[in-house]
Amino acid sequence: MKYFPLIVNKERLLSPDYIPASLTEPAIPFNAPSGDERRLLEKSAAKAAMRLFTQAALEQIGLVGVSGYRSYERQKELYEDAMKRKSSAVAPPGASEHQTGLALDVSCPEVNLELEERFGHTKEGKWLARHAPLYGYIIRYPKNKENITGFPYEPWHIRYVGEALSLYLSLTGLTLEEYHELE
Ligand SMILES: [Zn+2]
Repeated sequence: MKYFPLIVNKERLLSPDYIPASLTEPAIPFNAPSGDERRLLEKSAAKAAMRLFTQAALEQIGLVGVSGYRSYERQKELYEDAMKRKSSAVAPPGASEHQTGLALDVSCPEVNLELEERFGHTKEGKWLARHAPLYGYIIRYPKNKENITGFPYEPWHIRYVGEALSLYLSLTGLTLEEYHELE
């Protein structure tokens, strides 16, 4: 897959049978157990994640991968569970970027590997926000852009878009939706 700016959101859904062509497991620390699909990423995203995590480790930044690829079926289960709990924090099936294999949730021990906003205040979260764009990743759901992306601020969710676009988006502050002039 060379077309990285694949846009997935609550209005632009992936079909249930969309599976990335080249899922692979990057050699980075993961919280999920061996063999779990959450350890998979699309090949280019996996390579970039390895470079990002290697640099982090060199700078004593202890990032941990929590969740990469997620199948449509798994998203459907999570969504239905969330509906039973009357929670709106889970994207509907087809609306999660994790189905593309280009998104990775990252956390750190200081917040017990939770995916919470306070990750953004940790040394690791701040490092991630500054460095992800150098490796082709963006913080996909920035602060104060929920009306555009459809998602609240998620400092832990990074999305691979390729280096040229990640740098452009981080310098301009545009979201993927704004870049593509979508509402
Ligand atoms: Zn995520």
